[in-house]
Amino acid sequence: MKEFAYERATDVRDALIAADGGARYLGGGTNLVDLMKAGVEAPTRLVDVRQLPLAGVSEAPDGGLVIGATTTNSDLAAHPEVRRRYPALSQAVLAGASGQLRNMATVGGNLLQRTRCAYFTTQVCNKRVPGTGCPAIAGEHHNHAILDWTRSCVATHPSDMAVAMLAFDAVVRYETLDGPGEIPLEEFYPPVGDTPHRETALPPGALITAVVLPGSAVSPRSRYRKVRERASYAFATASVAAGLDLHEGSVRIALGGVASRPWRARTAEAFLLDAPLTAEAFRAAADAELAAAEPLPGNGYKVRLAGNLIETVLKELQP
Ligand code: SF4
Repeated sequence: MKEFAYERATDVRDALIAADGGARYLGGGTNLVDLMKAGVEAPTRLVDVRQLPLAGVSEAPDGGLVIGATTTNSDLAAHPEVRRRYPALSQAVLAGASGQLRNMATVGGNLLQRTRCAYFTTQVCNKRVPGTGCPAIAGEHHNHAILDWTRSCVATHPSDMAVAMLAFDAVVRYETLDGPGEIPLEEFYPPVGDTPHRETALPPGALITAVVLPGSAVSPRSRYRKVRERASYAFATASVAAGLDLHEGSVRIALGGVASRPWRARTAEAFLLDAPLTAEAFRAAADAELAAAEPLPGNGYKVRLAGNLIETVLKELQP
């Protein structure tokens, strides 16, 4: 690991000033420090944000929740209002990593974690250094993307938490030296295009301060399901977060493990707007969503898997 300066901030503005010029913020360090050890990341300065007054879950004026950026994954998953009003979010967080990692990992850091593409950690590639190519294209990709990939990058996004947040129209709040801002989570991760190194829409130097979950009629009746290659401590081969509002008949669906970003299943949602909420309609909605899939050699299984997950979870949410 290369030498780096370390600073602990106790005030948001001090953190922004300390990070000005290209430092990295350090939350739980559960991804960044691993990448530093592997030589993938080499920041010259880390600004530790764990002492900032940003931890905790509070009520939003519209009946939703505001989740502070330094809230640990464990505290988020265990929060009684998260469990009651956004059960899919609690389940998604508990499906990620291990207990020890969840005790350290923060909400802000979870959103910013980087792909677990096996080539990314061992080879220079387009995501690490633009223009250097994508070794995964000609390699092994049973766990790469089936939706929205390009020849620049076929990696998937690793977060479980962000998939559930996306289903509930979460908004990311941040601070910069020029003032605060907000980005809907659906716009937080840009399409991969030919710029896979550009992973978020955050302005340079921005510090995530919170995630806002709007009040939602679908979220209390929601579920997260994840398929992975072993029973625990593995990233999703495919996952789904879904919620159902039985009064309005509306549905929210987001997928994980299938694209460079958490994937909002807008086509399936639109299909179900005008359809009875039956098992046949759920299957047809899943097929409509996955019709756009372009599997790579070796990962065609994900198309059927993701479709089956959508159908299964929606059926489970029916009374
Ligand atoms: Fe790098 Fe993306 Fe290719 Fe993986 S898929 S090697 S992260 S460019």
